[in-house]
Amino acid sequence: MKNISEEKGFKKIYEGKAKMLYEYGGDEKKLITYFKDDATAFNGQKKGTIANKGEYNNSISVSLFKLLKNNGIESHFIEKLSEREMLVYNLKMLPVEFVVRNYTAGSLAKKMGVEEGVKLISPVLELYFKSDELGDPMINETYVKAFDMGEIKDVEEAENIALKINGVLKDFFDKNGLLLVDYKLEFGIFNGRILLADEITPDTMRLWDKLTLEKVDKDRFRRDLGGVEEAYKRIYDITSNI
Ligand code: ADP
Ligand code: UDP
Repeated sequence: MKNISEEKGFKKIYEGKAKMLYEYGGDEKKLITYFKDDATAFNGQKKGTIANKGEYNNSISVSLFKLLKNNGIESHFIEKLSEREMLVYNLKMLPVEFVVRNYTAGSLAKKMGVEEGVKLISPVLELYFKSDELGDPMINETYVKAFDMGEIKDVEEAENIALKINGVLKDFFDKNGLLLVDYKLEFGIFNGRILLADEITPDTMRLWDKLTLEKVDKDRFRRDLGGVEEAYKRIYDITSNI
């Protein structure tokens, strides 16, 4: 399968750390997202590539968006176009990252003075302001209103959807031998509706093997643990059956 955006000469409108966005011909309501092999960590301080990550992450996201749709949760996903590209609705993005946590890891473990891997009694939901320059500072709903980042009702709806998604994803990964430790979601508005956007991949989730607690996600890259491509491939294999 060839890259449609290159083949058709569509205009690149954005290049981020992990993806590129292309116009979809003259259709302003749609975009192509192209998944790169580039990997960054610690707000861009660590840079590298992960072989085949673009193909794995495109496929994993497509499968998980389909799984969510089957469970009544709508996303920006329209269609898989090629190994590294999917067609999505062009959303007005909320400048907020929604992080949901089921187990302690990373900054939460540090902040609360507990070890990594402690099961939380109920999920923790955190909001971050999406800004590379500021290093994505943590915010809350009052910031959304005070700094005019969007409508509170939209953020509340996104929060509810983020928690609903938790049930579906936790269950799916549990059945496939993995703990869903935490993950980050992004949402946007399309025709007045809040839709899940961006990606759901090992770049944006922490997944641990249920038996060995081995990390099967981007922490292998962040912490130089080796076996990075194999970890992405494992999630790719699990999700290809959806
Ligand atoms: P970053 O911009 O953080 O480096 P990426 O490399 O993943 O991240 O770039 C993808 C960009 O596309 C992100 O900024 C994300 O908010 C945005 N995006 C994702 N889905 C959509 C969509 N459906 N419509 C418009 N923008 C989107
Ligand atoms: N995350 C992400 N993009 C970000 C920040 C976080 O995808 O810009 C994901 C990350 O992969 C992890 C979860 O959100 O699964 C929590 O990440 P955070 O950076 O808060 O990690 P911590 O601070 O706990 O190390």
